[in-house]
Amino acid sequence: KKEYDYLIVGSGLFGCVFAHEAMKLGKKCLIIDKRNHVGGNVYCEKTEDINVHKYGAHIFHTNDKVIWDYVNSFVEFNRYTNSPMANYKGQLFNLPFNMNTFYQLWGVKTPQEAKNKIKSQIDQALITTPANLQEQAISLVGSDIYEKLIKGYTEKQWGRSAIDLPAFIIKRLPVRFTYDNNYFNDKYQGIPIGGYNKLIDGLLGNCEVRLETDYFNNRQQWNDRAEHTVFTGNIDQFYDYKFGKLEYRSLRFEHEIIDEENHQGNAVINYTERDIPYTRIIEHKHFEFGTQPKTIITKEFPEDWTPDKEAYYPINDKNNSEIFEKYKTLSKSEQHVIFGGRLANYQYYDMHQVIGAALKTVSTHFASLNAIPNPIS
Ligand code: FAD
Repeated sequence: KKEYDYLIVGSGLFGCVFAHEAMKLGKKCLIIDKRNHVGGNVYCEKTEDINVHKYGAHIFHTNDKVIWDYVNSFVEFNRYTNSPMANYKGQLFNLPFNMNTFYQLWGVKTPQEAKNKIKSQIDQALITTPANLQEQAISLVGSDIYEKLIKGYTEKQWGRSAIDLPAFIIKRLPVRFTYDNNYFNDKYQGIPIGGYNKLIDGLLGNCEVRLETDYFNNRQQWNDRAEHTVFTGNIDQFYDYKFGKLEYRSLRFEHEIIDEENHQGNAVINYTERDIPYTRIIEHKHFEFGTQPKTIITKEFPEDWTPDKEAYYPINDKNNSEIFEKYKTLSKSEQHVIFGGRLANYQYYDMHQVIGAALKTVSTHFASLNAIPNPIS
């Protein structure tokens, strides 16, 4: 019998949920991570007594009571409600698009006035079959909302002009005819009190962890030490890029400590004009209603991805999807490797989704291990 039942490559939410559940079943796990901390992209770094979301702002939200109860069993969540603002050329607008936004745009006060305004702009555009993202957005919400709140932001995110982006990127643009600034429609949302590291620490318990340890530096040695491997790294790297490299969009974060208690009055302010190179400014203390004497802000700059940068958002276009399908087919034939998480599945997951996926993987995997063939049949 090998030293460990499970070697888990990656200490993000997928790896930590898998480890937690496997340990509950009495399995011996080892987690390795190439970074110098656990938690993957939900990791928070404490500076000036403020939890800084090191890999981008993370707001937990879900409609699934099972997942909500699961995370709350490790750490209590606060009542933070995401209500981002948009700054377009110095003017402020509420998001998501709702009656407050429509009042700020046009001075309209009733839902019917707002609906009429949007409909007249959609009709004026005369778009029957949208040929690109710009036409798609205008045909859904009209030109004012598009020009002021969507165009520049989306162009910065993708690093391309909206007329060069495919229409399918935007399927729906939710508009709300109530004065409700809550960004998410989900039943449950919040931030762990004390930060995401508490959630990760709760999941890990006393699991053995090795940091600054890249699986690929000594792959054979790790495989020899464990019965199974749970792999949450990049699937193309797992197969030595034999079908090609999968592409991503990346982000660059500029953090700044400011000697003032409250800098922007909100956790998230989007900058929706193209000429400002960042897409948003995060003021971290507001996620936890902080009253520390100083504050920390982070500007988020979208970037092209190169292998030396963090791979944040998969580009699920035709070419990448075809490459991924080939890796996926190969991965299905592995007897002792379980693939999971955003990098191995080449998919954007919210936190509640990756936790759900990990719990599902756990239940199918352990059910298959316990499936003893019926000797009679
Ligand atoms: P990760 O957290 O990426 O963990 C993978 C781990 O594997 C990493 O620690 C990595 O170092 C390690 N690893 C990789 N390769 C190797 C190797 N070869 N050897 C050893 N270790 C390796 N979700 C929400 O619900 N709400 C939000 O508001 C939200 N905001 C987000 C903002 C941004 C900018 C981004 C990028 C994501 C956001 N998410 C949000 C999504 C959330 O980050 C993911 O759902 C979650 O982090 C995925 O967990 P994971 O375990 O799949 O991957």
